[in-house]
Amino acid sequence: MDTDILYSRIPIPTNWGEVGLVIAPNGDIYPGSEATSIPLSKLGNIKNDSLVEIWFSNPLLNKIRSLSFLREPCKSCEVKKLCRGGFRFNAYITKNDLFAPDPSCQLVKDYIGKS
Ligand code: SF4
Repeated sequence: MDTDILYSRIPIPTNWGEVGLVIAPNGDIYPGSEATSIPLSKLGNIKNDSLVEIWFSNPLLNKIRSLSFLREPCKSCEVKKLCRGGFRFNAYITKNDLFAPDPSCQLVKDYIGKS
């Protein structure tokens, strides 16, 4: 596929595990601001848990960072390291599945349309 076309089709990548953590007013810790509306993405609470330990050892963050959660077509996508499988929030709100391919991606739409 033409590189310009491919890059124009890449959705917003999730930045969970890449830039920081979000702490809600009640002390709950999440991987991003949008994640505060996804209960299963809660990583801990500042009153009980170490931010350093969460950042370096949390299984959800490490799974997102490693890209081990990717399914097809993302798993075989040539820009997966850049895109990181798209935006996890999109997957969750549309598929109720935190690890589903981002349905906003045109390549994902094309793949679903073919299968
Ligand atoms: S197929 Fe997956 S990894 Fe590739 S651009 Fe789309 S969402 Fe990103």
